[in-house]
Amino acid sequence: MKKEQRIGFGTSCVHAGFEVEQHHSHITPIYASSTYLFDSAEHGVNLFTGKEKGYIYGRFGNPTNNQTEEKIAALEAYSLCNDDGSPLELKAILHSSGMAAIATLILANVKNDEKVLTHLSLYGGTQELVDKVLPNCGIETIIIDFKDLNLVEETLKHDSNIKLLYLETPANPTLQCVDIEALTQIAHLYGCKVSVDNTFATPYLQQPFRFGVDFVMHSTTKFLNGHGTAVGGVLIGRDLEWMKTKVTKHHRLLGGNSNAFDAFLLNNGLKTLQLRMQKHCANAEHVAAFLQSHANVAFVNYLGLEQHPDFHLCKKQMRHAGALMSFEVQGGFEAAKKFINQLALCTSAVSLGTCDTLISHPASTTHVGVAPELRLKSGITDGLIRMSVGIEDVEDILGDLEKALRQ
Ligand SMILES: *Cc1c(COP(=O)(O)O)cnc(C)c1O
Repeated sequence: MKKEQRIGFGTSCVHAGFEVEQHHSHITPIYASSTYLFDSAEHGVNLFTGKEKGYIYGRFGNPTNNQTEEKIAALEAYSLCNDDGSPLELKAILHSSGMAAIATLILANVKNDEKVLTHLSLYGGTQELVDKVLPNCGIETIIIDFKDLNLVEETLKHDSNIKLLYLETPANPTLQCVDIEALTQIAHLYGCKVSVDNTFATPYLQQPFRFGVDFVMHSTTKFLNGHGTAVGGVLIGRDLEWMKTKVTKHHRLLGGNSNAFDAFLLNNGLKTLQLRMQKHCANAEHVAAFLQSHANVAFVNYLGLEQHPDFHLCKKQMRHAGALMSFEVQGGFEAAKKFINQLALCTSAVSLGTCDTLISHPASTTHVGVAPELRLKSGITDGLIRMSVGIEDVEDILGDLEKALRQ
């Protein structure tokens, strides 16, 4: 596929990043090799000094990983341009998990005595990282309400030690959204970089680089892999020089590299990203409408419903409201547990973004150790069910829910 050809997003999912190798393998192979041969002493020197391109050692790079990185970079940059009209080029680096990508991101951009500014709704692991690990590195995290743009500006104006604005939108599990464009404009006025956790949206639904952000990260474990076969992460950046030097150094030395097998699974999963997302989204719309009108459901939290507080913001920066929702079963804790036990098709498990519909009851599983007052404060009520709508035939999902809600 020639680079200059203008192609669709779905075509990019299938073709971007692919490179024909020595044996003309049709599919990107799994390069299971920890190290690479030097043809001569000089070749080794040239690789190490960067005079020649090539692979050296598995922690630094691997051809399977590399083709997958190129595909993800192409999808996040899809149809975007620089200020001078040239196509936007991004660099992506695969990691062993979403958390590893976040660790590289923060440690490569924020040092001792500097600060991260973030919103009050974050993925649990990220929240624990900023609470329990970053303080040991002398990195403080300030958590404020990003809906209040004046507060964001005042905070940045009065603290020049804030180096990174960390956004997660839509957030896991609350689905709260923040305004990427407005926040990026403010941050850049004060020389602060911006990163977006784009896990829930994927580049099919939202391209944060369109709004000028500096970094995007994903837990590829979710929709990008799409089949629940590997834990992984990716960090993508706009400043190619910074990515190749500072960020690459941190990636290599922190050791959060991915591996060829997981990259292979991710690469194949990505080929159907557009197709899957379209079906996930269409199904989710039906499911939300069904739940909304059901007598045994107290409320539905879905970005595609007009009464959702972030309905308009979602419309502004996302192509569609996505496949995640939560809802409250009438009857509280026991009713929610009973509902889960009556399901025959939907899978009861944590995580999200797989082909099958995943359902979890946070009050009895992920948040069982959290004090009820705290849990309720973040909106996780006794009867709350979280749902990642899959790509099954929608009648089957609706039938399963209908039966389980009848009890
Ligand atoms: C799952 C998740 C992560 C963490 O990713 P892992 O691959 O589990 O390390 C980070 N952010 C969001 C929004 C997630 O859903």
